[in-house]
Amino acid sequence: MAAMLTIKDLRTSFKQAGKKLTVIEGVSLSVEPGETVGVVGESGCGKSVTSMSIMQLLGRNVEMTGSIRFQEQELLSLSDKQMQAIRGNQVAMIFQEPMTSLNPLHPIGKQISEPLRRHLGLSKQEAKDKTVQLLGQVGIPRAEEIFSEYPHQLSGGMRQRVMIAMAMSCSPKLLIADEPTTALDVTIQAQILELMKKVRNEQGTSILLITHDLGVVAEMCHRVIVMYAGQIVEEATVGQLFDDPKHPYTRGLLKSMP
Ligand code: ADP
Ligand code: MG
Repeated sequence: MAAMLTIKDLRTSFKQAGKKLTVIEGVSLSVEPGETVGVVGESGCGKSVTSMSIMQLLGRNVEMTGSIRFQEQELLSLSDKQMQAIRGNQVAMIFQEPMTSLNPLHPIGKQISEPLRRHLGLSKQEAKDKTVQLLGQVGIPRAEEIFSEYPHQLSGGMRQRVMIAMAMSCSPKLLIADEPTTALDVTIQAQILELMKKVRNEQGTSILLITHDLGVVAEMCHRVIVMYAGQIVEEATVGQLFDDPKHPYTRGLLKSMP
């Protein structure tokens, strides 16, 4: 079967004040159907820019070369409109801080049900029913009431559950999760990881999971990629990574684990 995602020699540069700053320098990776691939690396190494490059959410002053294939499609050659359609229902993303992707001015329910109406052609009532059902599935209590509440009325853990419900609502084939549990308490982290596993198992979703936490990698991933200064310095199965880490950064990370 063809890979879900294949990135070849990705270079991402920002144009600033007439200069070009290259922050991703030749990244190649793949995610197979149903596979969860972890991306680890210290702060600033380019994890988020890699994920935002795939989603093409970096704005106008960015230059990307190389290839990002999602199934049969080359994402780098799609129009903005085509890319929007892919983001809407085939590739979803969860960010570290859900407040950046939830609109503070709109009720929770509307933010899930409107895309559902658009992408799946559901009626208003059908979309509401499905949204309440989704909120229940991600463990949101009182889903009927939460439907009309605003993001600031929810705790961080609840907002992240809403983000997962939103990301999974259109059954994406690929989920890109950028430090989805970093901002949460340890107990909530564990619940969110369990939830991601549940939806992954139910929907067969491929996941690119960005984290700096090797505990999360051990728990969730099949394979892992280690990034350092905009490049991939190590790629291993989770077993290999823990038994025989090659890169000094990886060894340091392992040493700092409890
Ligand atoms: P992380 O691995 O912590 O997610 P990032 O991918 O956010 O790191 O950042 C990688 C590098 O790219 C950093 O040096 C960061 O300062 C730089 N960078 C990120 N976004 C931009 C931007 N919009 N313009 C210029 N530089 C950026
Ligand atoms: Mg980041």
